[in-house]
Amino acid sequence: MKKILMIGTGGTIASDVTAEGLAPELNTEQLLSAVPRIGQLCRVDCVQLYALDSTDLRPEHWLGIARTIRERYDGYDGFVISHGTDTMAYTAAALSYLIQDSPKPIVLTGAQKPIWFDGTDSKRNLTDAFLYACRGSGGVQIVFNGKVILGTRARKTFSKSFQAFSSVNHPELALIQDEHLLQYISCPSAPAPVFYDELDTSVGLLKLIPGTDPALLAYMLDRYDGLVIESFGVGGLPDYPGFYDALRAGVERGRLIVMTTQVPNEGSDLRVYHVGVRIKSTLQLLEAYDMTTEAAVCKLMWLMGQTRDFAQAERLFYRPVARDILYPAVAGQTS
Ligand code: ASP
Repeated sequence: MKKILMIGTGGTIASDVTAEGLAPELNTEQLLSAVPRIGQLCRVDCVQLYALDSTDLRPEHWLGIARTIRERYDGYDGFVISHGTDTMAYTAAALSYLIQDSPKPIVLTGAQKPIWFDGTDSKRNLTDAFLYACRGSGGVQIVFNGKVILGTRARKTFSKSFQAFSSVNHPELALIQDEHLLQYISCPSAPAPVFYDELDTSVGLLKLIPGTDPALLAYMLDRYDGLVIESFGVGGLPDYPGFYDALRAGVERGRLIVMTTQVPNEGSDLRVYHVGVRIKSTLQLLEAYDMTTEAAVCKLMWLMGQTRDFAQAERLFYRPVARDILYPAVAGQTS
């Protein structure tokens, strides 16, 4: 029988009603006792790492989860992390950079309804997650509502219904129906994972709206060493006064800037419009192309933990990790 380590972090799946709303109160053993089927699939050890709404999780918690997996990696066949859905896509992306090429499955799951609610999705998601941890392919993935989504490609796209997550700009890896695993894509892995233990958290995200004050861009480039800018459409920066100069000043101070789009699907291409070509051809910038914002933010934290040099950052950013970025090869982007 396979041996799986379950890591509890909180979230709705482990929540109970309190006077001030749902709050994570149940531990991993209590979750498992509500789903006896899991005991027939595998042997499970539990670690209760956090008991937090995922709104409260920060990069230090991502590092804590990665450290726990690293310390216990050899003793288990796979890992299941129970987690709140709200920031699960960020944790999945961060773990994809902190633990690369894992031959063993590392699975995140959670639920939209607590485990003791009638009609909860918790039991199905937990069972599917353990099933995938026993039989699925290596790497970091989210198992939710019968879908298996790459950790670098997940985004929460529904706030209430059971189909909470979508796979962005990449097909789902597998489906799980009535405990049958249909593995359409297996990600290649190495004989052993590569672990990283550093993230530089001086990274901000600026979402543009029509009329954004360029002083906000200047402030964020003052405040953060790395900045992801969610622009419009295929990407660009407003031509009205203030933006270009603020961006250039940031680049000249060594800030690492990633241009991306707030459009959910198909990604950026700064070469199309003047507002994109102007910045792309005159400033040292990175472009997220088909990456999710969650992955772009976490990849920037990961690479800034290793370098601040633009050429090295560019090489690391465009080198695909767990299929997080596929488009630069098509666009002829240097890497
Ligand atoms: N607020 C909860 C969390 O992310 C939502 C959930 O788990 O579905 O922890």
